[in-house]
Parts: sequence; structure tokens; C-alpha cells
Amino acid sequence: MPYFAPYLSQEKQLELAQIANAIVAPGKGILAADESTGTMGKRFASIGVENTEENRRRYRELLFTSDKSVAENISGVILFHETLYQKDSNGVPFVKVLQDKGIIPGIKVDKGVVPLAGSDNETTTQGLDGLAERCAQYKKDGAQFAKWRCVLKIGPHTPSYQAMMENANVLARYASICQQNGLVPIVEPEVLPDGDHDLETAQQVTEQVLAFQYKALADHHVFLEGTLLKPNMVTAGQSCSKKYTPGQIATATVTALSRGVPAAVPGITFLSGGQSEEDASINLDAINKFQGKKPWALTFSYGRALQASVLKAWQGKDENKAAGQDELLKRAKANGLAAVGKYEGGVDSAAAGQSLFIANHAY
Ligand code: 13P
Repeated sequence: MPYFAPYLSQEKQLELAQIANAIVAPGKGILAADESTGTMGKRFASIGVENTEENRRRYRELLFTSDKSVAENISGVILFHETLYQKDSNGVPFVKVLQDKGIIPGIKVDKGVVPLAGSDNETTTQGLDGLAERCAQYKKDGAQFAKWRCVLKIGPHTPSYQAMMENANVLARYASICQQNGLVPIVEPEVLPDGDHDLETAQQVTEQVLAFQYKALADHHVFLEGTLLKPNMVTAGQSCSKKYTPGQIATATVTALSRGVPAAVPGITFLSGGQSEEDASINLDAINKFQGKKPWALTFSYGRALQASVLKAWQGKDENKAAGQDELLKRAKANGLAAVGKYEGGVDSAAAGQSLFIANHAY
């Protein structure tokens, strides 16, 4: 008989489950604002803003000081290390600005994607060294959940067994370390949209990746009720010539998830993955309208699809701050409605229909 050493007290389990459930409360989702310094540079380059620490702080201040009604649809914000310790112009720490609105601060704890030797240009994600100590400190400093992103690519021979095994395992190790330190782990095995594969291929690959993921989480005794999954929606490759309806995307997505994600998981918070803002809202809505078994909350944890219009409206100028905040409120509301299957479409934001695809996307 194998031995199962309990690593979480009943009390810790309850705390984790409560955090996870609060994040995926009906009509709420996550703003992913944890872009690394390099990624912020790319976002700022598109609007001609210099990538300085002060500009990153000003931009995040715009996001976090939006009207408090944003908290009706945003339950949590994922921060980058630098941002967790920054303050607004009045000297109030961002963590407190968020907490005062009833928004739960989270933290990206991975240290980026690195090549996986011996594979066909596949990757793993690094950051396990010292992770327990970092998680303990982040918890003290106000974070209640964490994110770690792994990526898998669809190609003629990928994702390989090696890549699926390694990425599932490193995510499981991360999840177990987070839980021991009171952080809800968001488990993110992203299947990239790069390629010309069809919807069926994307579904099959996503199913395989999820099977590896939940086997690894079980092997590491991760407490599923205190986790969230952040997957890709099942969509055809970016350069696939065939176009699919939101209904087809929803069917493929929910079918794949129902085959691979245990009902004990409280919520699934999709990444937007290069979809336009409007597509990300419409597809989430279709997923929630899908008639069939859905034992988990299905909501958003969007980066690009919540920020493209904000950046476009802001342009780095203080006089555009309110306009940028309006864009955030509009997209947050649209996605909040989509998370309960009540989005009728057509919210007019500055970048609504613009493709946000970035080849081989790093975060
Ligand atoms: P996108 O919504 O821009 O895909 O990013 C979300 C995220 O947090 C990726 O790790």
C-alpha cells in the first residue's frame, strides 16, 4: 500500500478552497497584469511609451485605480514581482489599493520559458529553486494565489511525450509548493494557437495535455479543490484556413475539459491566447451557453483581451487615464456577462476586433 503523507491540514485545505471559490464567483474573473518587464516593453512599444519602471507603475496605477465597480467583474489580479511592491501616486501600496476594492492580489511565480534539450524546439518553465521561500514571503505580503505558465506547441511531432510529461510535472511541483504556503496555484498548461491545425487536432492535443496534467497533480497529491486551471480555449490554429463558429469552439472546449478535468476543480479561468477582445468575450459566452455537463465555473483570466483597448486609449498620457479606465470597465463587464452566458456581443471598445496574436508568445 503506498503511503500518503498528509501535507495540508483541514484548516489549510479550507482556506485554499475558499480563495479559489471567491476567485471564480459567478460573473467574476481575473485580470492578468503580470507581464514581465520585457513583455511590457513590447506592449509599450506599440503605443510609443518608453519601458521604464515609472511608466510601468503609471500604467498599473491606471488599471488598479479604476472605478470600484470593476470589482463586480474582476475578483483577482495577477501581478509581476515588481508590481507587488509598487505604490500608487498617493503612496498606497498596489496590494492595498486592490484589497480595498475587494480584489484578491495574485503573483506570477515562474521565471520564464526555457528550451527543453533533446526536443523539437519545445520548452519547459523554470523557477522551482527557492520557490517555497518566495511563496511564503508573497503570502505575507498579501498574495493569495499564484500563476505558473507552461507552453506546448502543436506541430507534426509535437507536443512530445517528453514535453507533456515534463511540463505537467513541473506544474504539479509548483502547485504542491504553493499550497503548502497558502497560495492557490493556477495551473497553466497552454497549448499555443500557432500553426494551421484544425479544431479537431487542437481538441485532441488539449485532451492529451490535460490527461498528463491531472495524472501529475494526482501523483503529487495536490488538493484539487484548492487549485484553478488556466487552459487555452480549444480553437483552430491561427493560420488554419477553415473558420469555426463560437458554438463549435465551445463544444470542442467543453468536451475536452469534461474528459480531462476532475469535477473537484472549482474553476477554469481561460487565457485569451491572442484572440481579439471581442472573440475572447463571445467564445467565453458560448462556452457558458453550451448545454451539457459543466461541473466547474468557466471564466476568464485575460491579459491581452482585457488590456488592448486600455493601452490604445491611454497612449502613455495622463489626460487619457480616465479613457483607459473606461475601456477596462467595458471589457470587464463584457467578460463578466460572458462568464454567466449572458453576453450579447457588440461592446464597442477601442481595439475590440483587433487580432492580438503574437507568434510563439512569451509572457
Ligand atoms: P493572454 O490572455 O494575453 O493570453 O495572457 C494571459 C496569461 O496570463 C498568460 O499567462
